[in-house]
Amino acid sequence: MTETPFNLDQHIARGVERIVADTLKATLRDPKESAFMLKFAAASRRATRRRLALAEQGEHIPSFLIASITSQCNLHCAGCYSRCNAATVDEAPVRQLSGDEWGDIFRQAEELGVSFILLAGGEPMLRWDVIEKAGAMPGMLFPIFTNGTFLGEKYLSLFDRCRNLIPVLSIEGGQDVTDARRGEGVYDKLIAGMDALQARGLLFGASVTVTTENLRAVTSPEFLRTLTDRGCKLVIYVEFVPVTDEARHLAPGDAERAQLAAAMAKLRRDNEEVILLAFPGDERADGGCMAAGRGFFHINSHGGAEPCPFSPYSDVNVREAGLRQAMHSRLFRALREGDFLDDAHVGGCVLFEKREQVEAMLAAPRSE
Ligand code: SF4
Repeated sequence: MTETPFNLDQHIARGVERIVADTLKATLRDPKESAFMLKFAAASRRATRRRLALAEQGEHIPSFLIASITSQCNLHCAGCYSRCNAATVDEAPVRQLSGDEWGDIFRQAEELGVSFILLAGGEPMLRWDVIEKAGAMPGMLFPIFTNGTFLGEKYLSLFDRCRNLIPVLSIEGGQDVTDARRGEGVYDKLIAGMDALQARGLLFGASVTVTTENLRAVTSPEFLRTLTDRGCKLVIYVEFVPVTDEARHLAPGDAERAQLAAAMAKLRRDNEEVILLAFPGDERADGGCMAAGRGFFHINSHGGAEPCPFSPYSDVNVREAGLRQAMHSRLFRALREGDFLDDAHVGGCVLFEKREQVEAMLAAPRSE
């Protein structure tokens, strides 16, 4: 029997459909939330049709983007990849994209069939102007990866009005490990934020950075219950990517990745009401790394189009080139060609492992 060749666009379409169906299931008990999710499910199907139609014409469009909307943050977490890459700094931002420029990028994305835009930083909730623009685009979902220290009345009301904005709170495990990495008192703020979101019946998630040290603790039923008891409906396990050689020992290897996958499968069986995702997840099942526009790409705070937040290299800026042209940048095309992205590698990130080759690609003289 001949094996069906791997079709990236179909694979992604199924993935998006699954997430939307799971979210619909998770929000059934909340009429306001499920009413919004029903409308979003229809918009997501239209977006998938748009992407598949462009794929028919030979143009591949990723289903989601990651947008780092600020280079500022109020915290100084240990091992922060964004600070290590100097993408988050304490100095005043330079040439940062304005709220209107981000609004325009969101519109371009919707026209091309993008369904999700993950808002990150730095601390994205420092950009009220951009988050308000995102709230005005109900045809797309905007998970906001936040450190959870700005969850006051103003944002809670905005999230109540704009149900396409979904806060995803970063947490490392229990109080000790979270405060040890993020700073004294951050854990209590996170828990207070979750309670406030639950009291309003707002959909929210948590993002957990998984290291060789906290893997067992953060995949325990007890830890998951501390989140789900507070109304958390989505947990994203993000594999730690060492951006310095000193932190390499914290990066999950193949054994830990298998342990994570097995623990998540068990947690999924026992907790049907919560959506569990892994990033970058099972790259083998995805036919390799999904960066560089295969499944997504990253836009930094001043518009540079990068393969991924963990691979801060860019040869095009969306401010000048526009989103569509950036998706097909010379660097992205070079990374997507051949088997560069589906090569075996140590640790969670092929682009980090091959950063010298990526730099060489960037420096390569233009042929055309
Ligand atoms: S909150 Fe995020 S961006 Fe800010 S220092 Fe911590 S890890 Fe870095």
